[in-house]
Amino acid sequence: MIFGKAYRCCLFIFVVFFCLLTGCDSTTVGSHAMIDDRHAQERERMVHKQLERRGIADKRVLSAFLRVKRHLFVPGNYRDLAYSDQPLPIGNGQTISQPYIVAFMTESLGLKETDRVLEVGTGSGYQAAILAEICQEVYTIEIVPELGESARQLLEDLDYSNVHVKIGDGYKGWAEHAPYDAIIVTCSPTHVPEPLKDQLAEGGRMILPVGKKYAQELVRLRKEEGELVEESVLPVRFVPMVNDGGKRY
Ligand code: SAH
Repeated sequence: MIFGKAYRCCLFIFVVFFCLLTGCDSTTVGSHAMIDDRHAQERERMVHKQLERRGIADKRVLSAFLRVKRHLFVPGNYRDLAYSDQPLPIGNGQTISQPYIVAFMTESLGLKETDRVLEVGTGSGYQAAILAEICQEVYTIEIVPELGESARQLLEDLDYSNVHVKIGDGYKGWAEHAPYDAIIVTCSPTHVPEPLKDQLAEGGRMILPVGKKYAQELVRLRKEEGELVEESVLPVRFVPMVNDGGKRY
């Protein structure tokens, strides 16, 4: 009994010291938990209203969207809008896509657990995190160094050891790790880049927005016996794919 009291007393002193050292108190701990809870509820609502109701049915895609904390991938001043039904600015004139578009593109790749995927246009790293929840390895390329570096840091902080970020021009793909079971492009070229066609595995799937600045189509391709079979699936509007000099591909 006495031992029990002494133990509780030591524990109390330890907690007080820990809080003093880390600068936290019960109110901040409580409010963090409340904010986490609120975001978890917002995520559930987003998955139900924006994804399931619009036809996204792949269980692995839906559960990836429940797990990945989208609010960590948007700038602090947009955190309250992180789960809303729209794209958001992420700095350097770029945007994180609307959740439905991220889900639609991911689902249409028909991903398996063992797949190795290439993404062109890392941006915030959100799409890469979604892919990393579903597949084995994710290789992602970003041309704007500031964006690529902050996405790399965030993905590392979140323990996504299966995501590999490269700063560079994704038009050329990432030959070193090719061929890929799936390729997803989240910036828009005027045509399907030849190197990406070459780096797609037999039976592999690719999805990308192709077209003019304001009139693009999401195009899905499949490599069958070395040939690419192509279909247009949805009208969309993405930021342009550019080269090192900022010129559009
Ligand atoms: N997938 C991102 C959205 C990115 S927006 C996310 O989940 O947040 C498109 C991104 O493509 C931008 O960050 C832009 O800088 C990048 N981009 C444009 N042209 C590129 C190129 N040639 N190679 C790699 N990235 C490119």
